[in-house]
Amino acid sequence: MKPSKTNALVSRILTFSCVDGPGNRLVIFLQGCNFDCITCHNPHTINHCTDCGDCVAPCPADALSFSAEGKVVWDAKKCTHCDLCIDVCPHKSNPKIVSYSLDDMLALVRQHHFFLNGITVSGGEATLQLPFIIELFKAVKADPALSHLTCFIDSNGSLSRSGWERVAPYLDGAMIDLKSWQSETHRWLIGRDKHRVIDTIDLLAEMGKLHEVRLLHIPGKSDLDTEVDAVGAYLNTLPESVQIRLNAFQHHGVMGQALEWEKCSEAEMDRFHDLLFARIHRPILKPTIYT
Ligand code: SF4
Ligand code: SF4
Repeated sequence: MKPSKTNALVSRILTFSCVDGPGNRLVIFLQGCNFDCITCHNPHTINHCTDCGDCVAPCPADALSFSAEGKVVWDAKKCTHCDLCIDVCPHKSNPKIVSYSLDDMLALVRQHHFFLNGITVSGGEATLQLPFIIELFKAVKADPALSHLTCFIDSNGSLSRSGWERVAPYLDGAMIDLKSWQSETHRWLIGRDKHRVIDTIDLLAEMGKLHEVRLLHIPGKSDLDTEVDAVGAYLNTLPESVQIRLNAFQHHGVMGQALEWEKCSEAEMDRFHDLLFARIHRPILKPTIYT
């Protein structure tokens, strides 16, 4: 089934998270991304499954099979979540993508709403399924029983101005990743120019919808530390209410050449933090776990 305004393709749902926006949140990870980051730690969320079938035979739990139409079918009851299918998939996808109707998603939100401060739609790149997000947020805002829930998007910042303007009436906040400063570095690491990301950050700040900017530090590879004067000057143009968070490059989930790259240690993160703090003089959140 294709994503639509009443149907989403979901790679995972967390019914409780305290790291994906303010408070306790239900987090919906949508399948599909339009960036191809060398350092992606969830590469199996980038593409949609092609039904090639390469993962069917290796599954040790017999949880994957072919339908009569030749589609790969996942049996959640048999699955042991060993993730071997993800390891063998040559297409940066996974066979455990579930199609959720808007009604089913709202039922899940209602089931957990007493324990939640809000919902966050993440990815992949969440905004590739924008029509569904708009309908979901609209329905949450229209239901008096869910009026305490805030609606957030975790995004790579690639959505156009018109897209953000369409979702803005139902959006409480967004978290945006800024992964490098120079356009050349951004193109190399991400596969795309950074201008759309900056336009998104500026637009959301202007709308009062920018909750957090996340900076990924990859020692010796990204340029956020060598360009710290420019990065700091830019962050100083954002409202004080915008949270700045540092993410440390780690190897978990990463594929290919980036596995050879140096991980960001706590000491290295502290060094980058201090460089940036000296320029922006506001609290900067740091990672608490290093693997
Ligand atoms: S995670 Fe994948 S390989 Fe492992 S049991 Fe489930 S479907 Fe099979
Ligand atoms: S998840 Fe990957 S390996 Fe499995 S059928 Fe889909 S594209 Fe092929």
